[in-house]
Amino acid sequence: MPLDPKRTVRDLKELRELSSDTNGAQRVAWTDTWLSAREWFQTKLTGLPVEFHQDAAGNNWFTVHGRSPEALLLGGHLDSVPNGGWLDGSLGVLASLEVLRRMVDEFSGEPPVTIRLVDWADEEGARFGRSLFGSSAFAGTHSIEADRSRTDKDGIRLEDAVRRCEIEIERIGEASRERENACAYLELHIEQGPVLERMELPLAAVLGTKGVERHTVTFFGQEAHSGSTPMSVRRDALAAAAKLALEIRPIAVRHKDAVCTMGSVKTFPGIVTAVVGRCEATLDQRDLDPGVLAAMHREAIEASERFAREERCTVEWSRIWNIEPVPFHSELIGLCRDAIREVAGEAPALPSGPLHDAAEVSRAGIPTVMMFVQSLGGISHNKIEDTKEEYIELSVAALDRLATKTARWIQDGGE
Ligand SMILES: [Zn+2]
Repeated sequence: MPLDPKRTVRDLKELRELSSDTNGAQRVAWTDTWLSAREWFQTKLTGLPVEFHQDAAGNNWFTVHGRSPEALLLGGHLDSVPNGGWLDGSLGVLASLEVLRRMVDEFSGEPPVTIRLVDWADEEGARFGRSLFGSSAFAGTHSIEADRSRTDKDGIRLEDAVRRCEIEIERIGEASRERENACAYLELHIEQGPVLERMELPLAAVLGTKGVERHTVTFFGQEAHSGSTPMSVRRDALAAAAKLALEIRPIAVRHKDAVCTMGSVKTFPGIVTAVVGRCEATLDQRDLDPGVLAAMHREAIEASERFAREERCTVEWSRIWNIEPVPFHSELIGLCRDAIREVAGEAPALPSGPLHDAAEVSRAGIPTVMMFVQSLGGISHNKIEDTKEEYIELSVAALDRLATKTARWIQDGGE
């Protein structure tokens, strides 16, 4: 059978039928719906010369042994957020399945290199707040002690929820064994943003995932009576925070693709009759270039200090979380652009704002690239998430070409 991208669309619709309700996809990791989606996926491989096993972190691996043990990895994640979309993660898994089918057919069950399809466990972290669970175990960047006692909204511990799925939290690091012979990893994903739609293009190569600096910025002023305190003597912590909220746009714009968000502001005492004495704002800054990220972070600190002075306040920063930028493999980015050019003409390259399993694989030192397909309206993590069917089909064709090129690159000793 030659490649049949329409079959991927049919598979995706079948999965949607099986695992969604009127509010969207409900394939939250470690739930029955997720497990039944994974069972359904296994039935899709019946009849193919595929060896299946689940690793110690719950990632599902489907291996077609090739003439060489050197392995090309293709994947995605079947788990979703609650009330999620039909394509986030599942497109990568089901497009990879179509590529696998085509390769099995073309090479009579024995492709030149080994092909491994991976369905990562709990990419979204929707239930316990720990994203990239399976892929971080694979990469050796997991954090068992910090994660084992995380609880969901019903008080169930992560450790117990994964045990129900036959995963022992102590042993998830053994998933790193799967790295053996892994020579490259490819992941097709919906963009989840509006950039490709605005460019009026279906596909892009992904340059890497942006690094993140996430901080709490606290301004300290003086609580005072809103009636008796003249404007000229106020020390208004919210006024300083508000100036920063407006300044982050010009700071980010100076750095082109950088983004910066003040996502929450809390005021104290937070009543209508008092000048704000303390204001806690959160800042999330992202860029693909570590130098740009550091510069943007520095500029935001300087601006916050300037605004604090202007409002006779003080300011303190404390880091909530950070991750370094993860650039993808330059030669694979080149192959990805070639593949896109062949099926769609123009081949732009974009950074990814969201994190993906591919970032963990890349951090493990395995040459990695992702491909994005346009998202309608740039919306994701929502039941209205969608992509034109003709673009889904194009993306499967482009992934297939990329897989062929990458297999050849592996044979030629690429690294
Ligand atoms: Zn995803």
